[in-house]
Amino acid sequence: MHAAEKKVRAFVRVKPTAHFAQDVIKFGPDNKSIDIYIKKDAKKGVVNNKQTDWSFKLDGVLHNTSQELTYETVAKKLVSEALTGYNGTIMCYGQTGAGKTYTMTGATAEYKHRGIIPRAVQQVFKAIACSVDSFITVRISYLEIYNETLCDLLSTMTSSGASDVQMAVVDCPQGVYVKGLSIHSVSGEEDALNLLFEGETNRVIAEHSLNKNSSRSHCIFTIYIESRVRVLSDIRCINSKINLIDLAGSERLSKTGSEGRVLKEAAYINRSLSFLEQIIIALADPKREHIPFRQSKLTHVLKDSLGGKCNTVLVANICGEALHVEETLSSLRFATRMKWITTEPVVNVTYDSEGTVKTLEKEISLLKQELAMHDSLVNRSLVTYGPLTDVQVAEIKSQIHEYLQGNIDEIDITNFRQVQEVFRQFKLIVRQQEGEVETRLRSKYVLIDKNDFATIAAAQKLGIVDVDHHLLKRQDVETKPTPVSPNPDEKKKKFGTSSEQFKKEGTKNFFSGKDLAAHLPSKSQVIIPNKNLDVKEKARNEDTAKNDAQPSKPVSEEISQRPSSPPSRAVAFEQFKEECGSEINRIFKENKSILLARRKRSSTVARRINIIKQEMEDIKKALEAQRQERSQQGEYVDEKGRLIIDEKEFLLIMKLKDLKEEYRCSYAELQDLKAEIQYCQHLVDRCRNKLISEFEIWYSESFLIPTHVQNALKPSGNIRPGMIPINRVMCLKGMQRVLKLIIDRFFLSY
Ligand code: ADP
Ligand code: MG
Repeated sequence: MHAAEKKVRAFVRVKPTAHFAQDVIKFGPDNKSIDIYIKKDAKKGVVNNKQTDWSFKLDGVLHNTSQELTYETVAKKLVSEALTGYNGTIMCYGQTGAGKTYTMTGATAEYKHRGIIPRAVQQVFKAIACSVDSFITVRISYLEIYNETLCDLLSTMTSSGASDVQMAVVDCPQGVYVKGLSIHSVSGEEDALNLLFEGETNRVIAEHSLNKNSSRSHCIFTIYIESRVRVLSDIRCINSKINLIDLAGSERLSKTGSEGRVLKEAAYINRSLSFLEQIIIALADPKREHIPFRQSKLTHVLKDSLGGKCNTVLVANICGEALHVEETLSSLRFATRMKWITTEPVVNVTYDSEGTVKTLEKEISLLKQELAMHDSLVNRSLVTYGPLTDVQVAEIKSQIHEYLQGNIDEIDITNFRQVQEVFRQFKLIVRQQEGEVETRLRSKYVLIDKNDFATIAAAQKLGIVDVDHHLLKRQDVETKPTPVSPNPDEKKKKFGTSSEQFKKEGTKNFFSGKDLAAHLPSKSQVIIPNKNLDVKEKARNEDTAKNDAQPSKPVSEEISQRPSSPPSRAVAFEQFKEECGSEINRIFKENKSILLARRKRSSTVARRINIIKQEMEDIKKALEAQRQERSQQGEYVDEKGRLIIDEKEFLLIMKLKDLKEEYRCSYAELQDLKAEIQYCQHLVDRCRNKLISEFEIWYSESFLIPTHVQNALKPSGNIRPGMIPINRVMCLKGMQRVLKLIIDRFFLSY
C-alpha cells in the first residue's frame, strides 16, 4: 500500500529564555518561518561580505509552546499512523542545553512537562484499549550510541543482567536491527514508562561511573507495535516501530583546549553528526543511488528510519539567545535540509501463514497418531498415509485394468488417497473411451449436432430427417419383438439373422443408413453354421407364436455359450431389442408412436386453426362489405324497428358463429395435445434411457463378465440372475453415461 509522496516534516522549537534576542530571531506571521539577522560587526571596521540575513521555512515554529501542543503538532499524527503500520521517526537536533531531552523525554518533576516519549506511549496504549478486533503487542528498546559504541540502556532489565553479547548493527531483508539489543514486551503504559525511567537512570549512572557526558551520546527509544487482526481465515499482521531519537549536542566542540578523551568525543560526535548531515543531503538527492549509511553507527542504525518508507519528523531545538546564533543557524540549516527529503511511507503488513501452517502441522501430526492407533487396533498397521509413490500409482492403474478386464472382482480399499487415485484413473479411462467412440463414429458417419439448426434444416430440406429430427425411413421398418430362444444355438443363429436383417433394413437403429458389417465381430459370423440357420429359424418362429411374453432366459446359460469375442454394441443392441429388451423396446415404440400420433394430430389441429382464423377473417370482410352495401342502398327495418338483412348476410353470420365455436374447440384441443405431447416426450425419453441402461447391463452380463462371476450368476449362485454385482454396475454407470451423452449429442433421433 503506497501512500502519497511526503516530505520529511521539520519544526523548530525555541527554548524559552529571559534573554531572547528579539533583534536577531524573528518569526514569520504564519509561524512557519524564522528569520535570523546578524548585525555587522562594526568593531571590525572592515567590509563584511558575508550574508547577514537568513530566512528558514519550516513546518512550524514552536515558540512558547507547551509540551502538550508540541506533542500534538509534532508527534500525534505520526504515532497514530504507526498504529496502522507505518514506521515513524522523530528526531531532536540541536546544541546541548537547547531542549532536546526536554522535548523528547520531558521533565520528570511535573506530569504536564512530560515529553514526546511518555505521551507517545500513552497514545499507543489508549489506542490499544479502544481497539476491539485486533490483538496488539508493544515492545520497547532503548539504545545509546556513545563514541561509536552501542549500549543497551535496558540490559539491566534482562534476567542475566548486562548482556555479554557484542552488540552490532545488522542488515537483513526485513530492515536493519541491532544484534544484542534487548527488546522488552510491555503490558501497559506504566510498564513502558518504567522502562524509560530505567533507561534514563542507567544513563545517569553511566554518566557518573564511566565519566560520560550524556549530551555527547545519541539515544534511541523505540516502540515496536505488532497488531494482529483476523481477516476471514487469515491473520493480518501489522508491524511498525516508532524511533524517538535524542541526538547528541550538535555544537561544534572547540578542538583547541580539548585533549585526550574530550578531543576523542568531540571527534566522534562531530563525525557522526556530519555523517548524518551527509546522509540527509544524499537522501534529498533523487539521483543519488548509494547512501552511505554504514559510515557511522548512528546512520547505520537509522538506515530504515530516515526518509524512505518511513514518516520522519525533525525538531530543531534552538536557544533564543544571541550568543548561540551560530549554533542556531547551523541547526536551522540542518532542519531545512531535512525538509528536502521525500518519503513514501508504506504499511508493513504481512499475512501470517506461519502461525497457520504451524497449527495445521500440529493437527496433522495429531491425526496421524490417532490413525496409527486406530490402525493398530484393527490390525492395519502396514497402511501408510503419505502421498502415493509412482510405483503405487502404477499398481492402482494395473489393478483397474485387471478389474475392467474382469480378471479381478474387487479393488481393495486401503486408504483415502488410493480411493481418489482409483476414481482419477476411472475418469481417465472414461475420457479415453469417449474419445475413441466419437472417433469411431466420426470415421463412419456424418454426425449432426442437435443444436446445429442450420445443418438440421438442410437435412430436412433434403428429406433425410423429418421436422422432429427423425430419420424418415425409420417408420417403414418396425420389427416385431422376438422372444428369447431357450436354445443356445438359437442365439448364435439369431446373431446371424439379426445382422443379416440389419444389413437389409439399414436405417432401423441409431447407426442407421449405413452398412454395419464392419461392426460385426468376425468370429460370430464365422461360427454360425448355415445349415443351422434354417432349423433354428423354424424353431424361433414356433417360439414366437406361443412365447410373446416369455421372460428372458437365465443369463448364465447364455453366457456359457457366448462367442469368444463380444459382438459390436450396434449388433448386440439389435439383438437385445429382439430378446431381453423386447418388452422395454415394445413400450418404447408404443410411447413413441403415441407421441408421433399426437404430434401429427397437433399439427393438423394447428393447421385447421389457422384455416379457421383465415376463414373468419374472410367472413368478417364479406360482412363488412355487405353492411356497407346495405347502408348505401338504404336499410330495411321491420315493424318493431329491427334491421332486416338478406339471406346471404344471415348465412355469413351463421357461418362465422360456427367457425368461432370450432375455433374455440380446436384451440382447446391444441392445448390438451400440447400437454399430452410433453408428457409423451417425457415417457419416450425415459424409455430410451431405460432401454440403453438395460442394454448395457445385458451386454456386460452376456459378453464381458468372467467365468467365475458367471458361476455366481447361475441359479444356484448367490447372485440373482439378471442382476449385476454392485461394483460392476457402478463401473458401467460411467460407460452408460458416456454412451447416452454421445447419443444425445450427436444423433438426431433414435
Ligand atoms: P538538551 O537535552 O538539548 O541538552 P535539555 O532538554 O536538557 O537540553 O534542556 C536543558 C534545560 O532547559 C533543562 O533544564 C530543561 O528543563 C530546560 N528546557 C529546555 N527546553 C525547555 C522548554 N521548552 N521549556 C522549559 N524548559 C526547557
Ligand atoms: Mg539532553
